[in-house]
Amino acid sequence: DSAAADRRVDSVCPYCGVGCQLTYHIKDDEILFVEGRDGPSNANRLCVKGRFGYDYPRHPSRLTTPLIRKPRIAKGIDPAFDPANPLTHFREASWDEALDVAARGLVDLKAAHGPAALAGFGSAKCSNEEAWLFQKLVRTGFGSNHVDHCTRLCHASSVAALMECIGSGAVTASFMQASEADVVILTGCNPAVNHPVAATFFKQAAKRGTKILILDPRGQALDAYAHRSVRFSPGADVALFNAMLNVIITEGLYDEAYIAQHTEGFEALEAHVVDMTPEAMSGLCGVEPETIREVARLYATAERAMIFWGMGISQHTHGTDNARCLISLALACGQTGRPGTGLHPLRGQNNVQGASDAGLIPMVMPDYQPVSDAQVRAAFEELWNTPLDPEPGLTVVEIMDAIHAGTIKGMYIQGENPAMSDPDLEHARQALGELEHLVVQDLFVTETAQFADVILPASAWPEKDGSVTNTNRQVQLGRAALPLPGQAKPDWWIIQEIAKRFGLGWDYQHPRDVFAEMKRGMPSLDHISWERLEREQSVTYPCPAEDAPGADVVFSDAFPTASGRAKFSPTRPLPPDEPVDDAFPTVLTTGRQLEHWHTGSMTRRATVLDDLEPEAVASLAPGELARLGLAPGDALTITTRRGAITLRARIDPAMPEGMVFVPFCYGEAAANLLTNPALDPYGKIPEFKYAACRLSPA
Ligand code: SF4
Repeated sequence: DSAAADRRVDSVCPYCGVGCQLTYHIKDDEILFVEGRDGPSNANRLCVKGRFGYDYPRHPSRLTTPLIRKPRIAKGIDPAFDPANPLTHFREASWDEALDVAARGLVDLKAAHGPAALAGFGSAKCSNEEAWLFQKLVRTGFGSNHVDHCTRLCHASSVAALMECIGSGAVTASFMQASEADVVILTGCNPAVNHPVAATFFKQAAKRGTKILILDPRGQALDAYAHRSVRFSPGADVALFNAMLNVIITEGLYDEAYIAQHTEGFEALEAHVVDMTPEAMSGLCGVEPETIREVARLYATAERAMIFWGMGISQHTHGTDNARCLISLALACGQTGRPGTGLHPLRGQNNVQGASDAGLIPMVMPDYQPVSDAQVRAAFEELWNTPLDPEPGLTVVEIMDAIHAGTIKGMYIQGENPAMSDPDLEHARQALGELEHLVVQDLFVTETAQFADVILPASAWPEKDGSVTNTNRQVQLGRAALPLPGQAKPDWWIIQEIAKRFGLGWDYQHPRDVFAEMKRGMPSLDHISWERLEREQSVTYPCPAEDAPGADVVFSDAFPTASGRAKFSPTRPLPPDEPVDDAFPTVLTTGRQLEHWHTGSMTRRATVLDDLEPEAVASLAPGELARLGLAPGDALTITTRRGAITLRARIDPAMPEGMVFVPFCYGEAAANLLTNPALDPYGKIPEFKYAACRLSPA
């Protein structure tokens, strides 16, 4: 009942990269309900998470006081630990004491072992300003570039390929452009589950005549709207895409004028794919040659076509190669730079685009400027008045390995949950347990916080002001709607207090001060001011002028590469790192559910969402379940070379035979105890989408 509210606050959804704008309806400092606003990416719509996932900040296990580990309490996940009663393992502390202990442990390790002994994980759930401050603290306070975040587990391979081939890691066109396209390829993504409001734009486009082509090993709800749904063998993306390129080249369907004007390296691609005919690749990818020809022709002959992809593309040891292929398809057919064309990796977290732009990446400074470039460093050294390390830092999984190797000894983790999100969790959890000093800043005592020496109670999204950048490059403003509970503090304030204890003279009074500094180091924010965001709610970058809208479609004239041209980067099919065999004959793939977000720390504490999906499930094809002699709801054990979990079996007719899907949000059956930590050599992303496993009744 909107009349019952005493306040309304406009903000942005805290979950996925669609970035839906919403209004909190509030009474007595409690959110009564949430309503969609007419934002550019949601047109009044919200999915179940945005509409109902709002009460987690008031969950009984919310952290409201700084905590310090009690003496002689072992670090690690104790099954008896109750996050709602953390005082069994931790004692309460004042902010002064907690900040002093948190910072002193890190400062002492730096003094004893040098800057490279420290590392930090920031968060794509936090704002742009918090991401900027966090990476600045690591680079200028810790003194190294060992700073990363969950982009490493999400689209790092897509960004590596985009940077290499077109000189920019962001999307070339918004998903709203799908309505202008004649053909849309959705591959390795499941928007109805992971980007639900974007999925409504695809459905509308299909109803207006856009031909949707879905290329994926799994079926999905959007199949009902697809012109063609093609299931291919898990991990065989490169074989399928190269066969499509072969068809486009041998049948002369490529755009000669576009290639001549905007690209380089086409001849090498032509020679490279010459033997990768549909017939030669069909056995690898499991798709009939005529079907490969059909989808290749549909894409290549469309006047305007777009490609969208998700983590089914990126989370492979050949994830960068997968994205290179998609880029080659778009370049060969001249499908970028015009309305209704483009390349769009659908970003996962609400701010994974912004956190990456703001510099939570070990090898680049904000706006993807290489740390190894002396001119780049000189500019940031002048801005921050501090010398910077020229060595690129380590990535998420590499940091865990460095802890095991004894080179990284202290960490500061803000809003990330690597004890649930990293591959091969036993390895990651052992690493967290080996740290000499761990500071965790979060809303709850997460699985990761159970390894912490000090836990700092942070701010939930509805409690803070800050900007976020969605998958469409739209910078949007979130506004504080609720007061902070107990002694919890804004994240930017906590990071600043740690920085002060590293001797850094920071004095930001509000996130808008941080945004003003960001504009001095990030050309992408030109013509976007805090005041403009307050006024307009959403501004797309790049933006040509204060009074002009940002560019929905980019690279019409030239690409941001040295030559102004995009580059083809040929690839060859590679097998998964851990192919199935007789001992482990089934493919394990992991991901999200509609109702739960990533490691579940927020959504499993949101009443409605947890009621809808309360327990761990594994999805299997009906035939797979029958072969195991199981009925839906029976207990199933999944075993890989790294571990085993037991959870309930669920029938999903969209699953292919020989594959099982497990969401990674359930701590009681943590999917990542099973996953393979093998990395893509370019994006350093683990192979979450393919591990060999064995299924058995529990
Ligand atoms: Fe939130 Fe994404 Fe759902 Fe929109 S689609 S309401 S941004 S989770």
